[in-house]
Amino acid sequence: MKVYFIGAGPGDPELITIKGARIIEEAQVIIYAGSLVNPAVLQYAREGTEIHNSATMTLEEVLKVTLEAVEDGKTVARIHTGDPSIYGAIQEQMDALDEHGVQYEVIPGVSSFVAAAAALKQEYTLPGVTQTVILTRMEGRTPVPEKESIASLAGHQATMCIFLSVGMIDSLVKELRQGYPADTPVMVVQKASWPDEVIVRGTLEDIAQRVVKAGIGKTAMIVVGDIFRGEYEKSKLYDAGFTHEYRVGR
Ligand code: SAH
Repeated sequence: MKVYFIGAGPGDPELITIKGARIIEEAQVIIYAGSLVNPAVLQYAREGTEIHNSATMTLEEVLKVTLEAVEDGKTVARIHTGDPSIYGAIQEQMDALDEHGVQYEVIPGVSSFVAAAAALKQEYTLPGVTQTVILTRMEGRTPVPEKESIASLAGHQATMCIFLSVGMIDSLVKELRQGYPADTPVMVVQKASWPDEVIVRGTLEDIAQRVVKAGIGKTAMIVVGDIFRGEYEKSKLYDAGFTHEYRVGR
């Protein structure tokens, strides 16, 4: 009689948490974001589970299905792609459940920005390069506050992971160029962790052409920054001359 918001992970059905998979198995009603969630995660569901694809539903319809199920004493698994806290539109659902006095829990997931790092075999926070990761997007139908413009965020020259924007790569690159030098590396990972994952590598100068040439128009993570230059300082954590709580000097 509870609602679980579950992060399904970026695509690979093995990248859902054990807890998320267990709750999918236990749920009587599943509502999944079919536009991005890999239907393969539904393999964890029991036969006969009621399954809805929210891609064709409004918020009201999702809430109606959820509330009716809860009223019938059922457990609902609401499955979002990646981690639901990032562009997941779960706040409005949680707030509506609060209004109705319905209990819920959130099970985190592997967000696509970390799945992209795994695909690229790249650390985002390198000593001597940057210690900051910015998650953002270009403005689409959802507005982005003016003080978070890509140009102003680019000024930090941190690692930037840009969601929901590959379709606007030309204007994105123009904005990024206002903060990063033209030779800054840019990686584009389409469908990270899916069998048809594609990686396109370039710089701010040529990435837009490369992305168009590769035919990448959606479901891609754009990662920008000096971390890809291959120059950094070794970490202090494993430095033999550096002691800490778990390793004293020898
Ligand atoms: N909550 C999700 C993000 C939803 S917004 C998460 O945590 O990942 C949808 C955007 O996420 C897409 O436009 C794309 O930028 C990114 N995305 C989602 N899955 C992806 C994947 N497997 N590979 C690359 N980018 C992905």
